[in-house]
Formats: sequence, C-alpha cells, structure tokens
Amino acid sequence: MAGEPQEDCLFCKIVEGHIPADVVRETETTVAFRDINPQAPTHVLVIPKVHYANAAELAAAEPQIAADVLREAQAVADEDKLDSYRIVFNTGTGAGQTVWHTHAHILGGRGMQWPPG
Ligand code: 5GP
Ligand code: ZN
Repeated sequence: MAGEPQEDCLFCKIVEGHIPADVVRETETTVAFRDINPQAPTHVLVIPKVHYANAAELAAAEPQIAADVLREAQAVADEDKLDSYRIVFNTGTGAGQTVWHTHAHILGGRGMQWPPG
C-alpha cells in the first residue's frame, strides 16, 4: 500500500529504530537526523515516516505531511541557529538521489554557491 514501510529501505529502518541515527527532532509524522556524510556544518535530513520515493510523490499523496517536512526544516534551522540555509530534494539518479525514501537535506553553517554543482 502507498506509504507503507519498505523492507529494503534504509530510511524506513531508521524510522522504525532498526538502524541507529543521530536524531535531532521527531514529530508524529517526521524524523530529522544528521547526515552520516555531512557536506556542511549543519547537514540534517528531514524525512516523513511514511515511505514515498521522492518529494513529488509525497506531496501528491499526502500534502499535509509534505508541509510537515518543510516546517521541520525551519525547526532544524532554528535549533542550529541558522539564519540562512538550503533545502535540497535530490530527485532521480542524475540529480544525485541514492536513497529512494523522500528526504530533505537541510544544509547550513557555511557559505553557499549558486548555481549548485
Ligand atoms: P541522496 O543522495 O539520496 O540525496 O541523500 C542520501 C543521503 O543519505 C546522503 O547524503 C548520505 O550521506 C545519507 N546517508 C546514507 N546512509 C545513511 C545512514 O545510514 N545514516 C545517515 N544518517 N545518513 C545516511
Ligand atoms: Zn522508506
């Protein structure tokens, strides 16, 4: 069923507590944890507890939870006292997506270039 946990999904395992993570925030619908390979002083992943492959699929199926992810991005930034930060949803292999469970990268604490690489 749409949104159900997937057995082979790393982030579903983190949601279920089967794989440890440095969790910084948790709500009824989301988990935020530090990226294992940080690309900035703050590099947190905000994920919905439900499983969808990418942000667009989540937004189409459960728009309220997509909004929860964005709200949590700001909460993470507030906790790390960031006045500027970047939210990235890599979508598709060509854009660098490697985990097929929606996740927002929250990056901050250093200068950012535009356009991104
Ligand atoms: P993507 O490349 O799909 O946009 O992002 C996946 C992210 O998940 C990467 O930045 C990668 O470092 C992170 N990641 C992969 N495996 C783990 C893990 O086991 N724990 C944590 N905390 N992050 C992970
Ligand atoms: Zn999943």
